[in-house]
Amino acid sequence: MNRNLKIDGIVIRNYRIHDYHKGSVVFSPQKGIINTISYGGYKGKSKLGPAVQPLTRGHFDIYADPLSRSIKIIDYTPEEFYDSIKNNLKKYYTALCWLEIAVKAHGGGEGALELYQLLSSSLDLLEKCPSELDDRMMVQYLLRSTVLIGGNFISDECGFCSRSMIDNETMFYNHHHSCFICTDCADLNNSMIKIVPGIRKYIDYSLKNEIGLSLKAGIENNLLKYLKSILYSIIQEYLEDSLSTLRTGKEYLG
Ligand SMILES: [Zn+2]
Repeated sequence: MNRNLKIDGIVIRNYRIHDYHKGSVVFSPQKGIINTISYGGYKGKSKLGPAVQPLTRGHFDIYADPLSRSIKIIDYTPEEFYDSIKNNLKKYYTALCWLEIAVKAHGGGEGALELYQLLSSSLDLLEKCPSELDDRMMVQYLLRSTVLIGGNFISDECGFCSRSMIDNETMFYNHHHSCFICTDCADLNNSMIKIVPGIRKYIDYSLKNEIGLSLKAGIENNLLKYLKSILYSIIQEYLEDSLSTLRTGKEYLG
């Protein structure tokens, strides 16, 4: 078995191991979320250490030791540094939130490749898009990552009675069963999330088209904000965990 491997990856965060070694959490399409070590990475003369920076994407040469189960980084060639994201706090917190989702979704498990491709292409778009589109980017990423971790956004039929929905019908999101349901099935005494036709259409269009195209689709600002807040709550249900970047970056992400 070849223990020397070449993998792609996005560096999520770094931490110190003992005094001089650099630990890094890396998301790789081939391996999912992994903990790696750059020996001597925090020593002044290390060439490798300074290259392994959070929110960069590139190619790694690694050595996977089957005995200690540790993964050593031999070399790292970053290809993307995402400087525009790092220089804009809203974009930065948006990206941090996506990285946190990737980690809390355990790299997508079996679907690591799809989640990695989504994260990677979303970061590329976020890096390039004008700041006015940052909220749309957030919504696009939340929708798509929720689907990848098992989320259900079927909006052409009721998740309870299976009745087909007509175009301009309002639906409700049922938290307990994690699906959209019709007005007849909704228990209006319970606090339910209202999915108005404009949001249904936006979700449908987004999930039927690739992300770059969906990003161009217009949506009223108040609907976009409402959808974003719904998606924050839905994805945290699927992750069974709260997202700490939503707290720390509240000023930018809310
Ligand atoms: Zn129904």
